[in-house]
Amino acid sequence: MGNDFRINKYATDFIESLALSNVKSFYPDAFAKYAKISLQRSIEELLDFTESGALELKWEIRCPNVYCHKKIDGYSSEQLTEELNCDKCGQEFILSNDDLFIRFDIKKDYKEFIKSETSGKKKENYLVS
Ligand SMILES: [Zn+2]
Repeated sequence: MGNDFRINKYATDFIESLALSNVKSFYPDAFAKYAKISLQRSIEELLDFTESGALELKWEIRCPNVYCHKKIDGYSSEQLTEELNCDKCGQEFILSNDDLFIRFDIKKDYKEFIKSETSGKKKENYLVS
């Protein structure tokens, strides 16, 4: 694949910087833009981080009304054929793949780990200088 190491480094930097911020979750298109790769490639890369336990994949349902596009909570992926009702604009719809969005949550223990690693490094630098 040639430049996988580049994407892997970008993903590590991207996720670590988010782990250090107050961000709790993000969408794969944010990483796709950051690394200048396709959305599909972005999802593939981020899935590796779910295996290592840094990220958790979540499905989000969004209202198909383009003027609304509200996130709809409380549905699991087992209810895919169910008729849904948007509580903001009132639109009724049958859930389709187009209404499903992948989100990645940054795991709490990963955030804590990265924060402690980073503060550890700062202390080391302080001791050296
Ligand atoms: Zn709506």
